[in-house]
Amino acid sequence: MTTKHELTRRGFLAASAAVGIGGYALHAVGEEPSSGRGGADAATRTLRCEAPVVRKADVLVCGGGPSGCAAALYAARSGAKTLLLENMPFLGGVWTAVGISHLIDGRGRDGLNAEIHQRLPVHQVFGRNIYLIEDMKSLLDQMMAEAGVEVQLHTRAASVAREGSRLGGVFTVSKSGFEFIEAGVVIDTTGDGDIAAAAGCAFEQGREFDGRTQPVTLFGTIGGYRGQPAKGRALVEILERGGWRPSYPPVTLFPQPGQPGVFQLMATQFYGIDGTNVRDLSRAEILGRYEIRKCVEVFRQHGGDDWKDAFLIGTGPTIGVRETRRIRGRYYLTWEDLNRGARFEDGVAEIRSGSNIHPVDDPYESPPEGLPAPPQFRVQPYEIPLRSLIAADVDNLLMAGRCISGDVYALGSYRLTGNVVRTGEAAGLAAAMALESGIQPPALDGKAVVERLNRMRVG
Ligand SMILES: Cc1cc2nc3c(=O)[nH]c(=O)nc-3n(C[C@H](O)[C@H](O)[C@H](O)COP(=O)(O)OP(=O)(O)OC[C@H]3O[C@@H](n4cnc5c(N)ncnc54)[C@H](O)[C@@H]3O)c2cc1C
Repeated sequence: MTTKHELTRRGFLAASAAVGIGGYALHAVGEEPSSGRGGADAATRTLRCEAPVVRKADVLVCGGGPSGCAAALYAARSGAKTLLLENMPFLGGVWTAVGISHLIDGRGRDGLNAEIHQRLPVHQVFGRNIYLIEDMKSLLDQMMAEAGVEVQLHTRAASVAREGSRLGGVFTVSKSGFEFIEAGVVIDTTGDGDIAAAAGCAFEQGREFDGRTQPVTLFGTIGGYRGQPAKGRALVEILERGGWRPSYPPVTLFPQPGQPGVFQLMATQFYGIDGTNVRDLSRAEILGRYEIRKCVEVFRQHGGDDWKDAFLIGTGPTIGVRETRRIRGRYYLTWEDLNRGARFEDGVAEIRSGSNIHPVDDPYESPPEGLPAPPQFRVQPYEIPLRSLIAADVDNLLMAGRCISGDVYALGSYRLTGNVVRTGEAAGLAAAMALESGIQPPALDGKAVVERLNRMRVG
């Protein structure tokens, strides 16, 4: 029921990375997939440079969002020398970089979800667990330091050195230039599966028949609002009075605890954006900033006393991408698994949330004709097997977070932050256990991983 998109040409640098003396040589920057990015016939240029080997890590975690933080913590706590790379200047991914300031599906859990609930000041609003983004950034810094995770910010994991069925390490791009980091096991927690794609792993993206993914959203932060937390119709009516139609109709204001008048504003959604295409992302960011400014302006002019002193504090830092690559693993979770409440011997994460799929087609436009009906299913509590976190094509590459192996419906459920933390914990521990035993992750005893994971989570 899903289409397999093999990478026709190895992503970015992977295919041509070659070992040099005291460094890795990079070739062939500029190669792009064939659709919509310059086309199959796009000209290419070659960049040749030496990338010094700057570090060695047992476990190299690429991407410091909820899944990456969990993976790094569990790898380090299991005794592995762990390095966490993050492109932004802070950790947290969607928890901090996008403006989501609430935790879902974490309360009542053990493991890192419980630790965060205990240590992060969390406030109940609209039945949601709201936190301050700066509190989350500091807490994650502190937890990494306590566990002995080495953190390198401002660093994009750009490509890999693939040596047969394993990875030798990862090329990074940063203000320090091109560098290379050797690794025993690599964990892809980029959300987008950047590392797996660069390694030439098979992946799928978006709806089966047209590749469209869920919309992207840019958040704004506003100050000076004197009203109550609000959501939906009441806000939309003000915007409509000012002649503005928000691209995200259930406009929502999330209060920021301890900051009177400060709210996160969720009012945008952009459709048909490929989160792995930088030009799409640029367009969406610019449009998002325009729409948020427009909303604040209309609220101020038409919202009465509550709104007359409102102002925009900022947007972003980055647009939020809900869905991109789903990397093929050794097990592929499907909506049938969710429907039957699948259980596995190597079930490393129990998921209780339903499928949270935002409409892929713009609600203000007519959907394309002849769309196949989505399957009818109910999500029963189900498990994610460790095999969904192990790349099908590369032995020492694990995934965690939203880029693991499953169909679009499964992604809609396990993508929630409380859930990606669970897959991160499992990937981190599995990586450390494989290194401990001198084996590759596919050879791990899944049951043994589950047993040790359960002990760690309550411990
Ligand atoms: C707008 C929006 C609203 C959402 N609302 C909710 C909600 O209310 N509740 C909920 O539970 N979930 C929500 N989600 C879903 C959830 O936040 C994500 O699915 C979840 O954060 C995914 O976690 P992740 O660790 O896989 O990826 P991310 O959180 O995306 O983290 C990936 C990290 O990797 C970094 N990175 C990416 N590429 C590279 C690279 N090449 N090199 C180095 N670093 C890299 C990124 O900067 C980022 O820090 C929302 C998502 C979005 C986008």
